[in-house]
Amino acid sequence: MDTDRLDAALTAALEEVEPDHSGETSDYLDDVAGRQRDGLAAAVCTVDGHQASAGEAEHAFALQSVSKALTYAVVLEEVGLDAVLEHVGVEPSGEAFNHLSLHDDGRPYNPLINAGAIMAHALVPGKDAQTRAGLLLDRYSAMAGARLEVSEGVRAAESARADRNLGLAHLLADPGVLPIEAREAVDGYLTQCSILVTAPQLAVMGATLAAGGVNPLTGERVLQEWVAEQSLSVMLTCGMYDATGQWVAEVGVPAKSGVSGALLGAVPGAVGIATWSPRLDERGNSMRGIGIFERLSERWDLHVLRHR
Ligand code: GLU
Repeated sequence: MDTDRLDAALTAALEEVEPDHSGETSDYLDDVAGRQRDGLAAAVCTVDGHQASAGEAEHAFALQSVSKALTYAVVLEEVGLDAVLEHVGVEPSGEAFNHLSLHDDGRPYNPLINAGAIMAHALVPGKDAQTRAGLLLDRYSAMAGARLEVSEGVRAAESARADRNLGLAHLLADPGVLPIEAREAVDGYLTQCSILVTAPQLAVMGATLAAGGVNPLTGERVLQEWVAEQSLSVMLTCGMYDATGQWVAEVGVPAKSGVSGALLGAVPGAVGIATWSPRLDERGNSMRGIGIFERLSERWDLHVLRHR
């Protein structure tokens, strides 16, 4: 599809969902205060590098839980599949993202719920928190084709309410399976949650996954092909909190959502899609983000399980 047609289709989908102001925002976060509650942006990047965007494409928002999928990819790349699987599984949990439980084999269910994401963060190589955060920022930036940074405001807001995540980290630390200290793992995880992106940058990250690990804008191979495949598999089965089954049935695109209203999708061999709209449904997924994905999936025939 050429850029003009991509632009027109994206703008149409955005205009259709725009009037919907239902859902609540997560109001403890700086980046959804005031006017931004009703902010809306969408962007796509194809695996051959065509880009389009609509709405507030310049607005930078925190990745929040979307970072869980990205860090999972980075640690797979850095330490390999076996070492990662030893620490965190790949099964949907069916529980809320911050549920205080582990699989009966002692591992977090998957890397896209908080326990698994804290564990995945703890597997990032590095001698200290700063080195680990630096590696993640480098790798995320390579996926986005742009230099990304951390929002100190979001990070401070997150640290101030980290008790539940600390509880999860201590649960992991108790049997001695958490490779770093619990507080450090949580701080690092919250730092990755606080990395800012625009919708177009996030769409390029999706396109990098969709293209088997090669950033279509820079040509850099950021991830090996199997890493992209493994990350997308877990996004498909676990990426939309406890509404993932319904998402797969209706939209059929590997995706990850975050409490900031961010939503990242990647269709292998085709396109990366990103939306940002902070009003969330009761499961924590962006209301209008879902609306845009539903439309694009249907109109562009994106469901990855459709018989073709
Ligand atoms: N920073 C949030 C937390 O772990 C991320 C939540 C989310 O995006 O689901 O509490």
